[in-house]
Amino acid sequence: SRRKLVAGNWKMHGLRGQLAEIAKIDAAAAAAPGVDVALCVPATLVHPASEIARSVQIGGQDVHANDRGAHTGCVSAEMLVEAGATIVIVGHSERRADQNETSHDAWAKAAAARRHGLNVILCCGETEAERDAGRAERVVQAQIEKSVPEGASGDWFTLAYEPRWAIGTGRTPSPDEIAQVHAIARAKLRQMVGDAADGIRILYGGSVTGANAAAILSIDDVDGALVGGASLTADKFVPIIEAAA
Ligand code: 13P
Repeated sequence: SRRKLVAGNWKMHGLRGQLAEIAKIDAAAAAAPGVDVALCVPATLVHPASEIARSVQIGGQDVHANDRGAHTGCVSAEMLVEAGATIVIVGHSERRADQNETSHDAWAKAAAARRHGLNVILCCGETEAERDAGRAERVVQAQIEKSVPEGASGDWFTLAYEPRWAIGTGRTPSPDEIAQVHAIARAKLRQMVGDAADGIRILYGGSVTGANAAAILSIDDVDGALVGGASLTADKFVPIIEAAA
């Protein structure tokens, strides 16, 4: 069966002063050897964080699809690897919204990350309007179809279902709604990569906290959590790691 992965996404939060939180989170991860733990930090913190972390995978939050070139302000997979990253998020809904990224972009970014040996967390998820229109499942299926790279397998690839309306809002789908989307996501993965779909972890993300983590992590086909706000400090994030253990 699949090991749980608890991944934090610090988004645009974190200066060197917060590295002490990473040390505390690392100690909690060392004490929970049955759980995989990752922290996706701002690019500027990847190197110092990777020097502190022993039991936590350190990652980026985005990567360019090309290996190098005239792309002012962007970071390549090789740069992330050199800085000490072992994992990267692609296709986050905030990048889809703020930087107009598409599922095709996420696909190209995932492929670039893979070429350089990075693990990938690829995000999908519907908007509130799409859910209200009864289209959540179709939207997620289409995103997966367009963004999951060929040969995706659980040793490097993780999918994250993050309904946009649940991000940073304190609202989460019901357990049944989460189970339903995760089941549909896995069926779509199976169509694309066959039995390898059984090894691919599907995380839930959106307003996960220490208070709801145990319930969410016990839902069928939920193989971990992608956590924003509650990953910024050890006192909030460690209970989520412990809930996964
Ligand atoms: P919150 O946990 O703050 O809702 O954010 C979820 C998220 O977007 C993680 O990538």
